[in-house]
Amino acid sequence: MTVRLEFQTQDPEEIALATRYWAMNEDGGYLEKVSELVPFREVTQSGLIAKYVWTFCHAFDENQACRKCEGPILITSRTDVKKQFQLSEAPCEACSEILRLEELERRRVAEVELQNQLATRIDYMRTASISYADLTDDQCFILLAIDALITPRLAHGTFTEDDCEALAPWEGTSYLTRLFRGGVIFDDPEAARSGTYYLQDEKLQAIPSSLQFFLPADESLGRGAEALETITERQLTDSEAMTNLWLDYAVGDVLRYLMEQCRVYSHDLDYEDIEKIRATVRFGLHTYSVSQLWFIMWKVVRDAASLANREYYNRYKAAATIPNKIRKQIERAEKQGGIDRYWERPELHIAGSLGVAFLTLFEIDESTEGKQALAIFAQLSVQASTGEVHGVANNFMQGALSRNVSFWAMEQFAGLIRAGFDTNGALDELVRLNPETFSVAIS
Ligand SMILES: [Zn+2]
Repeated sequence: MTVRLEFQTQDPEEIALATRYWAMNEDGGYLEKVSELVPFREVTQSGLIAKYVWTFCHAFDENQACRKCEGPILITSRTDVKKQFQLSEAPCEACSEILRLEELERRRVAEVELQNQLATRIDYMRTASISYADLTDDQCFILLAIDALITPRLAHGTFTEDDCEALAPWEGTSYLTRLFRGGVIFDDPEAARSGTYYLQDEKLQAIPSSLQFFLPADESLGRGAEALETITERQLTDSEAMTNLWLDYAVGDVLRYLMEQCRVYSHDLDYEDIEKIRATVRFGLHTYSVSQLWFIMWKVVRDAASLANREYYNRYKAAATIPNKIRKQIERAEKQGGIDRYWERPELHIAGSLGVAFLTLFEIDESTEGKQALAIFAQLSVQASTGEVHGVANNFMQGALSRNVSFWAMEQFAGLIRAGFDTNGALDELVRLNPETFSVAIS
């Protein structure tokens, strides 16, 4: 017999029952069937015997040893007995209790460390500030679009990723992520619900969807509606940044349409396909409007769907043709003088808050041809430099008038023009050569 019994009873009938329950021959076979042991007092069902015996007799399987301490293993029924010696799957009761306490202690220490790290982060966030003036034009534009979604929380409160979903028709929250990674938007651990932050390899991590974000104060203006206006009312002059933001947005607007069509026709595009399409669409958007490219997406997906029904083709193979078909359609359009059809924005396909901002500030939307949209953005830096020249000219005239040196100033100016300077260059040169004359007016 490989089972050692420990009795918690002195009742001879109970001792006899337990002994009969566990009695086995040399091969490990039980001498009596469990059904032969009932009825015993109030127990009439054989299925209840093991549990009943357990109440007054503990059995240890000598064929098993605890994998931690090599001590005996307590078993509760015949099915737990092993025929050959082995280490137990689970540790013995005493070791399990030690492990449980160790785990509790580990969690307690981790919780203390988490709270320490969170306290440090909370302290940092309370005093964090950035320079609104140093923000790039595209960052300001995204903030303007976020403000439109969550007013007045961008100026005073916090907001979540979910609040920013409606920024764009496709991957709306990616614009928030961009600001967060760029150090423009911070997270506020105090405002987040508990469980948002956790430690991984002793580093503070968070569940993105539970984060509470906020726009930190400006280092000189502080936080609030007035400071925020310096961002939302910024004169945008960076052609390149705004062109790229428009293209990112417009690519998303086209992709959203494509994905919707693929869903309807059960085409699955993988990550690489989508990246290829993203690049092709971006290229196409330099010439065509979003709504013209919607037509291309519609056509290509429909062609792939009919291909999928052909012999030797399947949905997977057909979907794989989509990236190249889009490229071909755009190349064909280049050769054949454009795309003569366009689709309307579908009912549930939002333009998003960024789309509304592009329309309000630049009068462009899905129907604006790519060339025209890019020309509008190219104009931004031209306008800005023209504005600068006007400023310099005004200051020059005022400086000359206020010092009563108009004639002298005009002679100097004429001389520089004769020397070959253009208007802009002549003004710059005059200011450089006579800083005192123009020092008051020219800041
Ligand atoms: Zn043990």
